[in-house]
This record gives sequence, structure tokens and C-alpha cells, in this order.
Amino acid sequence: MALMSLTSQPIGASAGPPHQPYRYQQRQLHEPDWRRFPGWREVTDAEWSSVQWQRAHCVKNVRQLREVVGDLVDETFFTDLERDQAERATMSMLLPPQMLNTMAPASEPGGPGSLTAAFYADPVRHYMLPVFTDRRTDWPSHPHASRDSLHEHDMWVAEGLTHRYPTKVLAELLPTCPQYCGHCTRMDLVGNSTPAVTKLKFVAKPVDRHTAMLDYLRRTPTVRDVVVSGGDVANMPWPRLETFLAGLMEIETIRDIRLATKALIGLPQHWAQPEVVEGVARVAATARARGVSLAVHTHANHANSITPAVAAAAGGLLDAGLRDVRNQGVLLDGVNADPHALLDLSFALLDGARIMPYYLYMCDMIPYAEHWRVSVATAQHLQHQIMGYLPGYATPRIVCDVPFVGKRWVHQVAGYDTERGISTWTKNYLTSIEADDPAALSRTYEYFDPIHTLPESGQEWWARNRLQPVSE
Ligand code: SF4
Repeated sequence: MALMSLTSQPIGASAGPPHQPYRYQQRQLHEPDWRRFPGWREVTDAEWSSVQWQRAHCVKNVRQLREVVGDLVDETFFTDLERDQAERATMSMLLPPQMLNTMAPASEPGGPGSLTAAFYADPVRHYMLPVFTDRRTDWPSHPHASRDSLHEHDMWVAEGLTHRYPTKVLAELLPTCPQYCGHCTRMDLVGNSTPAVTKLKFVAKPVDRHTAMLDYLRRTPTVRDVVVSGGDVANMPWPRLETFLAGLMEIETIRDIRLATKALIGLPQHWAQPEVVEGVARVAATARARGVSLAVHTHANHANSITPAVAAAAGGLLDAGLRDVRNQGVLLDGVNADPHALLDLSFALLDGARIMPYYLYMCDMIPYAEHWRVSVATAQHLQHQIMGYLPGYATPRIVCDVPFVGKRWVHQVAGYDTERGISTWTKNYLTSIEADDPAALSRTYEYFDPIHTLPESGQEWWARNRLQPVSE
């Protein structure tokens, strides 16, 4: 006699897999047709796939955006955008056509204004093209927000070389990117100045800075891992980047090199150029011969950004010999702070583009970012909700980059006052500015939830104790 379950159904004879909170299904990647925008009606496939055409047609201001989308988007949107640029934006506008084309991807343009609602609602637009009404008016910035919220400059051991963790460093080779993200954590340094933020400038010449970085690494054998970043390394002429990488690989103690580039998502045409792919193959061959792990780390926040052009460029880099291409997204309200959106993104990366979902950072406490930030509790909930669907190695970890600490998994919180939204964190290593500060290891460090997410009593507490923002 067959074993019977409590419902008298034979074991193994269920009606099919249970209905899951998230239903996985393999999806085809999709490149939206750019010809739906009036300004790109005549753009050919050859032009679209040319990096020179993409760079020459980047949208840098409201006038250029109008030329692309015409009257499909209402004047109210442009006015909203103009106001944001004038009063709030911490990053200037810079959108390669590839990236702009992933906004409102499914909408059928109709008459004037027919794409306005889709533009306002679009997740990629939300962080790449913020408008004034996106931002909060009650607490636009957290009182503890600051320009260099992770204190990376304080930890520079050479200009642009941040030594925060014991065995790894961040090398900011250049301060520009092919696209500017509204929430950029390096808003202090990266990109052009905006009316709200005068950017810092590197003082030394690039060649001298890069030499100083290599010198530091030669005399610091405890560092084995270098994130080669910026900005975005796609803005560095390949021969110069290759020279720097060759210098790095001559240092015996360097074992891991990760190239940071959002351009793989925003301007994949850069990484698909034959001369760049050949250069990557040369560097990857040297890395393999020397036992160095060479990977690309990119930055995608929504599944809509993962198009066939992105997949082709990522595949080309892997085929050229990179060990891996990994994604470090940012958890952003209005973009992806939802279990389905995070799983859709992860599966699009993993299935469609061979990109490893790796980290999701909580948005840092920079000025005017409160509408994007979520609480630690929300981040913990999202981490819980995405567990179990992806392979363990491809389940992104949601991390909080705690000032003076570094990345902590969101469940590592040591204490949490959920009324005031103050979480406390500990650490197990000294940064480069704490060599003479043994208390650094016993101290706790704070991170602050967005005030509008707190219970009323917590919001009242902050209103009573309203501080001036640290710096804006
Ligand atoms: S690509 Fe990275 S460094 Fe550049 S603006 Fe975006 S977040 Fe900042």
C-alpha cells in the first residue's frame, strides 16, 4: 500500500510544483528598438553598435534629451528635470544612447506626451535621470549625510589610492565615467561639478598618480587585491590601462585584479571593440601565466539594462580569458528594492549574460539620496526573500558599507534601534588611518536609516534633534 500524506494524496503524486512567491522562468534578453524615439528614427544598426557614435550622441542636457524623445514626453517632465539639475543633482547628466534606450522599453509611442508616465515610472530613469519630484522634501538629505560618506579620501595612501581593508585597495585611476549615475557614492570627486556640488579635483598628473600607486603596492606586500576603478576604467584609453595593469602584474604579491566598469552595462559597445577585446586577451593571458585572477566588476541595477548587446560584450570578455564578470548593484527604492526585481535582475545577469550576481550595496548616505535609500530592516527582508532561488554562489549578498568599517552583510548588525533607525556595527581590522588607534576594534560604528521610513516617534525624535547636514 502506498504511503499516504495527510491529505490522502500519494507521496510523489502531487499536482505539480507548488506556487512559489517568485516564479522563475527563463526570459529572452531584449534590445528595445531605439527607432521608437523621434531623434533616433534614422539611426542604423551599424551606427548603434559603434562606440564612437554612442559617445558622440550621449545626452548631456535637457535640450539634447528633448531632441531624442521629442514631444513624446511632456514639458512637465523636462521642467522637473531642469529643476533637479539646478537645485539637487549631485551628478551631471551623461547618458549614452544605449542606456537611455532601456528607459520606457516596452511603451508604444503614441501622440504627444504618450511616454510621460512611462518615463516617470521607469526604474532605470529613476537613478540615471532623477527629477526634482522624485526627491523627498521632508528629509532630502539625512543629517549625517556627507559628500565622501565612506571617507575614502581620508584613507588615501597615495592620491586616489584608498587603503581601507587589510589586504585590498581601491585605485581610482581617473575621475570620469561614460555615464553618470544619480546616486554615485563618489559624487565628491567623480564627474563635472553641478550647481549643488563643486567637485574635488586630483592634483597630481595621472601618470604621477599611477606611478605613486604602484610604488605603494610594491612596498606593501600585505596588499594582494586591487580594484582598478575610477570613475570607470572604460574612460581610460586602453593602451594606458594596459600599461598600468602590466605594472600591477609585475608586483609578485598582487593576486587579484578587478576592473570596475559600469560601461559594460551603459556602453557595452566600448568593451565589444576588437582592439579592446584583443587587449583584454593579452592581459588575461599574462594574468593566467602569473596565477593572478583578473575579473571585471560591473554595475547593473535593473533587469531592463541587461540587453543582448550587454550579454555579447560580457561574453566577449569571458571568451578573451577573464576569470569572471561580476555585478555589484545598488539597492535603490524606485528601482529594484523588491524581491521580484532583484531576482529578475539576478537571473537576467546569470542566465542571459554569464555575469555573476555578487553584491547589492545599500545606497550610501550622500546628500539628496533619501528617496533612494531603504532601511537596514528592509535590506534584511529583501536578502531573506531572495535566498534559495539562485545557486548559492550566485545569490547576491546585500551589504551595508558602514562608514569607517566597510562592507558588512546586512544581518551582521550588532545593534539596531529601529525607532530612530540607528544601527551599530563592529569590525575586525584597522583601516589605514587607525594604525595608532587600537580602540577602533572595540568601538561600534553607526549607520542611519532614512528618517521617513521610521515610526512617527522616531521621526519626531529626529525633528527635535535636527542637526545641520554634515556637509553638502
Ligand atoms: S559608473 Fe560608478 S563611479 Fe561612475 S557615476 Fe556611476 S556609480 Fe559613480
